[in-house]
Amino acid sequence: MKDVIILGGGAAGLGAALYSARFSLDTICIAKEMGGTGNIAHKVDNWIGEPGIGGMALMDKFIAHVKEYKVPLITDTVKEIKKIEGGFEVICEKESYQGRSVIFAMGMKHRELGIPGEKEFSGKGVHYCYTCDGPLYKDSTVAVVGGSDSAALGAIFMKDYAKKVYVVYRGDKLRAEPFNSEQVYADDKTEVIHNANVVEVLGDKMMTKVKLDNGNELELDGLFIEIGHIPLNELAVNVGVKLDSHGFIEVNKEGATNVEGFFAAGDITDSTKLKQFITSASEGSIAAQGVYNYITRLKK
Ligand SMILES: Cc1cc2nc3c(=O)[nH]c(=O)nc-3n(C[C@H](O)[C@H](O)[C@H](O)COP(=O)(O)OP(=O)(O)OC[C@H]3O[C@@H](n4cnc5c(N)ncnc54)[C@H](O)[C@@H]3O)c2cc1C
Repeated sequence: MKDVIILGGGAAGLGAALYSARFSLDTICIAKEMGGTGNIAHKVDNWIGEPGIGGMALMDKFIAHVKEYKVPLITDTVKEIKKIEGGFEVICEKESYQGRSVIFAMGMKHRELGIPGEKEFSGKGVHYCYTCDGPLYKDSTVAVVGGSDSAALGAIFMKDYAKKVYVVYRGDKLRAEPFNSEQVYADDKTEVIHNANVVEVLGDKMMTKVKLDNGNELELDGLFIEIGHIPLNELAVNVGVKLDSHGFIEVNKEGATNVEGFFAAGDITDSTKLKQFITSASEGSIAAQGVYNYITRLKK
């Protein structure tokens, strides 16, 4: 039985793998895709010390660093996690593994609009992370899609860069926290278009405009789709892990969940709203220390 099985090979999982190895824990790391979401990040400007590095290049560095510690990095898809005597069984497509503990770091996926042109111009004007890509749009015209807090905060963030910010929302009043909504409505550069949906993204090499279902078109440099995220929590829920009201896994300061021996890290947890590489890698390291303390207690 392994000391710890890390599920997920993104910033959180690889951060956890590095620290678990340095804590001399018998570790394996399993992921559908090593590198995780980082592999689709175009240009990363906020990983300290590596300004402008490509997302995939950054993840390759993470993987190479973990490999130096000889942690087995297993590419496989997890189908089920079961509680067993003394730990957990992780059942994957190709094989099954047993561990005294688990660090669950499966991340989340962003909600997409599912409209023509969205995939084609993803990373070419269409974005899902304003903190990551917003600063590229200095003095540009952008739109944020959505009406909740992430859309309102996106618009507030973007007004410091762009010369014009549209917020396109299908409802007749933003449903973000009043403090956030008020800031959006009060800003001179920002225009909220209510009762409208973006129905198509158009462009050439880069997106140039979007069509709305009210018949209008908006000429844009960038479109930020902020209509929520789906935490990939299903496999953890089956073990009895507690979630917050948005579906993120509740963790304590050591990354531990309510289920003994089951830890979580990265975008999937409720520990911060700042879902980034730096916070995910950090949470991975914290969970690894949590596991180390847990295993040390078990072995006493
Ligand atoms: C387009 C885009 C650009 C971004 N740009 C930036 C940026 O510039 N700067 C920044 O700091 N952040 C950026 N982010 C956010 C950053 O990518 C995330 O915060 C970070 O990747 C989260 O890491 P994670 O390890 O928690 O999850 P992820 O990286 O999503 O990793 C999840 C892991 O779980 C695995 N997995 C999922 N389900 C299964 C399964 N059933 N079986 C096996 N494995 C499974 C996946 O294969 C993956 O390895 C961006 C996000 C996006 C979407």
